[in-house]
Amino acid sequence: MRVKFYGTRGSTAICRKDAVEYGGNTTCLRLLSEFLPEGWALLIDTGTGFVEASKDLLKEGIMKVAVLFTHWHHDHTAGLLLAPHTHIPSAEFKIWGPEEHGQNPEDVISGLMREPVFPVNFQKLRHRFKLHSLKHIGTQVLVIHPEAGFHLLPVHVYEKAAKEGLKLALGKGRYGIFECLVVKMLKTAHPEYTVSYRFEESPPDGEVFVFLTDHENTDGIPADLVRHVHKADLLVQDCQYTREVYDKRTAGFGHGTPDYCVKLALRAEVKWLGLTHHDPGASDKVVDEIVEEAFAELTKGRAVDDYDPLPFDIFACADYEEVDVVRRED
Ligand SMILES: [Zn+2]
Ligand SMILES: [Zn+2]
Repeated sequence: MRVKFYGTRGSTAICRKDAVEYGGNTTCLRLLSEFLPEGWALLIDTGTGFVEASKDLLKEGIMKVAVLFTHWHHDHTAGLLLAPHTHIPSAEFKIWGPEEHGQNPEDVISGLMREPVFPVNFQKLRHRFKLHSLKHIGTQVLVIHPEAGFHLLPVHVYEKAAKEGLKLALGKGRYGIFECLVVKMLKTAHPEYTVSYRFEESPPDGEVFVFLTDHENTDGIPADLVRHVHKADLLVQDCQYTREVYDKRTAGFGHGTPDYCVKLALRAEVKWLGLTHHDPGASDKVVDEIVEEAFAELTKGRAVDDYDPLPFDIFACADYEEVDVVRRED
């Protein structure tokens, strides 16, 4: 499984000379897996990075785009408006996203794409979009199979099959869980209903990637969150603020800090930690300092002559960077 980051900035897109290394696009990433149906790309969120992602997909001849939305804040949707796929008649979308405040994905996208805030009314494009509401986060899993496609199942059906080694009924066929890419969900701590996605390739022994953005520092770490993140090969987590900025000014905004990211990753025995949703005010230097602050938490209490390897490595995600979920030694 591979992940390509197209947008790693939080809150708003930026373009500044002191912030070129990590980039200025807002949240969008592509998950590449051999378990996806042929011809489909899988993305998380369509922040401004989605415009460039869409161009890359066109170069590959991919016209079918599946998008999992974490939530509907503008920094996670803005790229949908002007990405080529949105306006090409032969392109099609499958979209999953949370339903809240009585607003389902159709209501939200219709609100983004209508006059006078946008010249193209969503109803003109609606026939190319299949929209799915996630109403009760944690009660469903999305099961993806290369032949059977995308299926949202009740979590108890999936768990029974996983526990008893049964095949899953996906459309007309029955398939072993190990043949699938399974997407589990958990609600994050954020001002709106926001979803963290856990991707398990060929469970129970395959690669695991967890994306946990727009999640507030919760100094106490809930058990369900530890289970959700447990033993991920790669966890990419919201780390917008230094602890100092958070304590002084931004507590309650719905975003994370380096000390908290490391504490969760340690508790959940994560194998590699990526930091994302960089503050729009942060220069490359500040993002580097946030990584240093995370390393300081990770090495806290270690003797200077302790040469044991660290439990995991930490990096700051950057636009257009592509990584293997399982870290290979250089
Ligand atoms: Zn955000
Ligand atoms: Zn948000």
